[in-house]
Amino acid sequence: MSYSDSDGGICADCGLCCDGTLFSLSTVPSGERQSVEAAGLAVEEIDGVPSFRQPCRQLCGTRCQIYPQRPRSCRKFRCPTLRNLDAGEIDAAEAGRRIATAREAASRFRNELLPGETIPQARVRLEQSARSGSKSRADDRARLMLGALEIVLGRNFRAARQQAMTTDD
Ligand code: SF4
Ligand code: SF4
Repeated sequence: MSYSDSDGGICADCGLCCDGTLFSLSTVPSGERQSVEAAGLAVEEIDGVPSFRQPCRQLCGTRCQIYPQRPRSCRKFRCPTLRNLDAGEIDAAEAGRRIATAREAASRFRNELLPGETIPQARVRLEQSARSGSKSRADDRARLMLGALEIVLGRNFRAARQQAMTTDD
């Protein structure tokens, strides 16, 4: 996520890399755990890697509440749409259209979630129900919405299915 003038500040109206739509967690680089916890994020060991879960508790609407102190993984992540904009391959209007389309698809999927459920939790639930051969029509509908969302995300926001926002992006 970036709000810099050079990229038109498009992230300020997006938040897809923070709200659980793109990632289920963000890793915390070594040496940053203390400062990240001091900034109010709950770091835990997930598969042996210090991480915090998404949706990020420091996201308010589409904005990061600890932007100057955000972890390195957040600073480094630049989705394909932001990179396309940086490279002059698309203009800010096109970036805005892509964000609006992805946010709409995420919203349609959110309508299928259980009460209190997050997008990362729903992804896990739907994978499990598919594996168990569930015949639930509600799950089928949710999977349809998730499939549509994944297509949009795969086209413009991530190169491949990634679970975590990391410093490797
Ligand atoms: S998904 Fe891309 S455009 Fe959206 S906030 Fe993250 S880096 Fe910015
Ligand atoms: S710390 Fe800020 S930039 Fe990082 S995931 Fe949370 S809201 Fe997004």
